[in-house]
Amino acid sequence: MIHPQPPSRSFNQVCIDPSALHENFSKMQQRVGRDIRIMAMVKADAYGHGMIRSAVCFAGAGCDCFGVAEIEEGLELRQAGIQGQIFVLLGFQPSQEQLFFEYDLTPVVFTYQALELLSQAAVMNGKEMAFHLKIDCGMGRLGIMPSELEEFLARLKEFPKLSLAGIMSHFPMADDAQSTHTLAMYQQYKKVCMQSSQQPPALCHIANSGAALYFPKTSCDMVRLGISLYGYYPDGAKGAQLARDEKLVPAMSFTTQVVQIKSVPAATGISYGHTFVTEKETKIAVLPVGYADGFLRSLSNKAQVLIKGMRARIIGRICMNLCMADISEIPGVETGDPVVILGSQGAETITADEIAEWMGTISYEVLCLFGNNNDRNYN
Ligand SMILES: *Cc1c(COP(=O)(O)O)cnc(C)c1O
Repeated sequence: MIHPQPPSRSFNQVCIDPSALHENFSKMQQRVGRDIRIMAMVKADAYGHGMIRSAVCFAGAGCDCFGVAEIEEGLELRQAGIQGQIFVLLGFQPSQEQLFFEYDLTPVVFTYQALELLSQAAVMNGKEMAFHLKIDCGMGRLGIMPSELEEFLARLKEFPKLSLAGIMSHFPMADDAQSTHTLAMYQQYKKVCMQSSQQPPALCHIANSGAALYFPKTSCDMVRLGISLYGYYPDGAKGAQLARDEKLVPAMSFTTQVVQIKSVPAATGISYGHTFVTEKETKIAVLPVGYADGFLRSLSNKAQVLIKGMRARIIGRICMNLCMADISEIPGVETGDPVVILGSQGAETITADEIAEWMGTISYEVLCLFGNNNDRNYN
């Protein structure tokens, strides 16, 4: 059950295109092959796209597996009626173990404490619990080291109600199609999978979007896709420029509107700190969007927006809820005109990759910032 949200009246609107999410899932399923399962990563409120609405879209495209960071997100998905398998990637806190049974969630394990807690809960519930083990084969982040695997498997025998259903790892550089690290790490991962030879064999999954796109041999039984489902390539504009066959479709746009227009004379300082001073008479549009809305201050004097299908530069510091665009070259702008911060207007498009470039980050962060700090609507 999806509860309809009341219409939002904010000037700033993030719009998500559900058909783009659906399409991206289908294209990636085609790309990796029918036999390989896709775990749709819907953590961080689906990279700013809204966890439940996005999960519903992916499910509609055939998705039966979802990945979240914390157990709370898994609960929300279940309460919204999402079916299929839900993986909780970041572990859990003591006393939360019962929730895996209650809500049929799959834990990813990387500590003995987790094994003990899950085992106790399994005995109490009189139920088996299948979990996936996280191995750190070269990410330098979450997971047990390959050298710890033998002991882990030995200790696992103390917990008869727990079964090792999967072995997962994560690539640090699969977004770089040239990286030699990725295939080397994959070899190590395969060794680890073999070492653990379970009956029935544990499911193997290591690939993220980058690996699924650029290292298809690493797809194993399942791929865990995030950014590609939201319409972006993990290596940014570079990936998109290559115009790969699957042509992913960005699902998010972000718009605001003009609240005031005025002309200021030459030598006028604009906004806090007067970091921009006009050289000539300048027409500016005041926009009711700022860093509180995820339009970060580091974009000051860098970002561009679309007004009347043309690019306008943001001049002066971006404030908490306001910023200014130079519209001297754009005729006919009126108060209330729509302004595109992310997305297309007329023949022009500003992508999350372009904004990420201005911000010194990656599209992932731009999508999270815009999507999770503004009202979202879907159409
Ligand atoms: C977020 C995440 C992914 C998805 O990565 P993308 O680059 O967005 O495809 C895959 N695996 C793990 C463990 C993750 O945390």
